[in-house]
Amino acid sequence: MRTVPVELAERSYDVLVGAGARHELAAVLPEGARRAVVVTQANIPVEVDPGVEHTVLTIGDGEPAKTLDTIGDLCSAFSRWGLTRNDVIVALGGGVVTDVAGFAAASYHRGTRFVSVPTTLLGQIDAAIGGKTGVNLPEGKNLVGAFWQPSAVLCDTETLQTLPPRELRAGMGELAKYHFLGGGRLDELPIDERVARCVEIKADVVVSDEREGGRRAILNYGHTLAHALETAGRYDLRHGEAVAVGLVYAAEVSARLGRIDAERVAEHRRVVQAYDLPTTVPAGTDLDEVVRLFGRDKKAIDGVTFVLDGADTADGVEVVTGVPEDVLREALDSVL
Ligand code: NAD
Repeated sequence: MRTVPVELAERSYDVLVGAGARHELAAVLPEGARRAVVVTQANIPVEVDPGVEHTVLTIGDGEPAKTLDTIGDLCSAFSRWGLTRNDVIVALGGGVVTDVAGFAAASYHRGTRFVSVPTTLLGQIDAAIGGKTGVNLPEGKNLVGAFWQPSAVLCDTETLQTLPPRELRAGMGELAKYHFLGGGRLDELPIDERVARCVEIKADVVVSDEREGGRRAILNYGHTLAHALETAGRYDLRHGEAVAVGLVYAAEVSARLGRIDAERVAEHRRVVQAYDLPTTVPAGTDLDEVVRLFGRDKKAIDGVTFVLDGADTADGVEVVTGVPEDVLREALDSVL
């Protein structure tokens, strides 16, 4: 079992990574918690034992369940069951469950402690680490939320065995990102070490910039094209698959700006292909629409903003503003 500390002063916590990590739940329960509510989904074949009196609540599947209504329903159920401010909420599931249960925890009694047990690869290397919680509005994804750090995170790699293959592969798209954020040859590591290394990198970034004032934005490497494809909404792509193409595209943009050489671009393609992920946009992608959507990305403060490789820092990548449109269009030709 590996322990990765997330050092945030009084909000510090440990992330345990390894096969069977979920069995540590009782041991990591916050001090004084006498009862627990486990929030999960009906189709997740994973059980946990908090070691105290507990009940299990389920929420719906997918993005449609990430709503303020779900938060209201959960908080009502907490209250009816008599969960107190000193008790604990356990999030058992993928990013949808950890985002929703985390936000319910942030809101209930103005803040109740919670422990995350992420059961998807994306949850373990990304969503459950760093304290971003929230839900969607009809107007957009993740528009309402809170920074609320968990008391502990248990990344049990055994739970990944039941993940549908496409979910696992999509998680690899986020994992591929960490190769270029200082992770190096993650594909050569066994899965436990791979997850632990990603958690370490994310923890390091979060600790230096908890509320995304600057550096935390590098975690969006590969996401500008991904968000554009997702916002266009017509393409059958999981988030991690869109990020995979986005990584190759970001490398092509970097190369055209003279930031990296052809060999580094080839490395991006090699990594993405090693995870059996796409390196091209879906057939029939409306390129004009994609370029238009780049300008609306949440990082767009000053013209089109991209996270690009070839930085002079240990991170390897950095936020670059004002990327010219002709460069963006030219680079799109290389991911068709
Ligand atoms: P998800 O939570 O929808 O899970 C994918 C599917 O797998 C679901 O149907 C789920 O029920 C099922 N599942 C989960 N664990 C399983 C298991 N062990 N065995 C079998 N089935 C299992 O998807 P996700 O990719 O984990 O998360 C996506 C969400 O994460 C998005 O809403 C995104 O906004 C959010 N996210 C949040 C952050 C953050 O920092 N808070 C970061 C990245 C993504």
